[in-house]
Amino acid sequence: MDYLPIFLKLCGAPCLVVGGGEVAGRKLGLLLEAGAAVTVIAPAADAAIVEMAEGGRIRLRAKTFEAADSEGFRLVIAATDDREVNADVAAAARGRGIPVNVVDCPDLCDFIFPAIIDRSPVVIAVSTGGASPVLARQLRTRIEACIPSRFGTLARIAGGLRDHIKRAIPDARTRRHFWEQALQGPVAELALQGRAEEAEMLLLEEAEASAKQGGPSPGSVALVGAGPGDPDLLTLRALRLIQEADVVVYDRLVSPEILALVRRDSRRIYAGKERSRHSIPQDSINELLANLAAEGNCVVRLKGGDPFIFGRGGEEIETLMARGIPFQVVPGITAAAGCAAYAGIPLTHRDHAHACVFVAGHLKDGTLQGLDWPHLARPHQTVVVYMGLQGLPQICAELIRHGAPPSRPAALVQQGTTRDQQVAVATLETLPARISDSEVKAPTLVIIGDVVELREKLAWYRNRKE
Ligand code: SAH
Repeated sequence: MDYLPIFLKLCGAPCLVVGGGEVAGRKLGLLLEAGAAVTVIAPAADAAIVEMAEGGRIRLRAKTFEAADSEGFRLVIAATDDREVNADVAAAARGRGIPVNVVDCPDLCDFIFPAIIDRSPVVIAVSTGGASPVLARQLRTRIEACIPSRFGTLARIAGGLRDHIKRAIPDARTRRHFWEQALQGPVAELALQGRAEEAEMLLLEEAEASAKQGGPSPGSVALVGAGPGDPDLLTLRALRLIQEADVVVYDRLVSPEILALVRRDSRRIYAGKERSRHSIPQDSINELLANLAAEGNCVVRLKGGDPFIFGRGGEEIETLMARGIPFQVVPGITAAAGCAAYAGIPLTHRDHAHACVFVAGHLKDGTLQGLDWPHLARPHQTVVVYMGLQGLPQICAELIRHGAPPSRPAALVQQGTTRDQQVAVATLETLPARISDSEVKAPTLVIIGDVVELREKLAWYRNRKE
């Protein structure tokens, strides 16, 4: 983070704008909206600024800037069209320890102005750190579009009743759950329609009902699929749940970008799951989830890909069921779907593959267990092997031994869908040697079948090195 976003209270604070043109006028307008007491210094100023001074909204000093003029201000903005003057203003302010902004000169700035979405009291600031103000404005437009115009009303109602609700529902966690429900349900609907009084009454009624219910609300577990890595591949529900959770229990496969979306003050528990080095044994994970929920927490069990595909999700909810704990399962994009899409390899294709099989290819005691080789060796299908890196030489050899042509195309996708994705295309005969020559980064997925050849035509995704 190059800049720390903060919201500055400027009500009544003396602020200085040096410059009297259009840009100065814009900055000055923002300062006035924040209630600052603005002084403008400029030998000549636009009519609009002169008018504001005459109306008593600002103080205008018609003079050239001198260093001593910056004395006593809380904030200084240099907005002249003269680079030298701007640099002098910056030096004068900095010498006095006053934060300064120099228009169009990020190097001289102590702070920068973000693009603003104003739904006061809700204010959203967007910054690209000076890299591209246009990009910031485009982002602002997108955010504007998804925040209803009366969002401020909702915030005002919540703010006005905050203390009251705090007294009515003393338990912090119960109170947070109450707010989470209230600010998305019928109360919000009323507020966003502009029916503030009704919204307020309903909010009070709901608070009373919640207080009567007493004690912390019962906990629950959501088994959530986080997808294969790219955070954009989360479902909307997954995103909402990880932002509301009290506790998130996550796997090694959950990418750091996705963890960054988890609510900041929620507890995070790493449950590991590295091949043959499970950080917490499965039984303990099952127990942990049940216990956390029994204590009243909203628990998210966040797993790579889809929770029901080689994710032991079934075992985890069996324990919850046995203990009568409410739960839900949120599907995610499984590695096969994600890696295939990002590698440009359609898993089925009218001309090449009419079926697709997902298998787990991990070794147990050095051998592959329970795979139906004659079936997997058949043509006109795609075989996707999860956890298959270690056993890859055996997998390829067994397939060939059971009748698959050695020339059958096979691909290894490393870190699929991430910016580091790598795809190696070879055949059943050549893939193991190809891999052993290079450094392979987990997680990896093997895709076997004629569809692999389509990548040559269909590859579209570029990783950061390409
Ligand atoms: N539930 C997960 C799979 C868990 S098993 C899902 O639905 O995707 C773990 C295996 O998934 C890894 O060994 C690897 O084979 C595969 N995998 C998961 N994410 C992957 C990724 N981004 N790229 C390649 N393989 C991945």
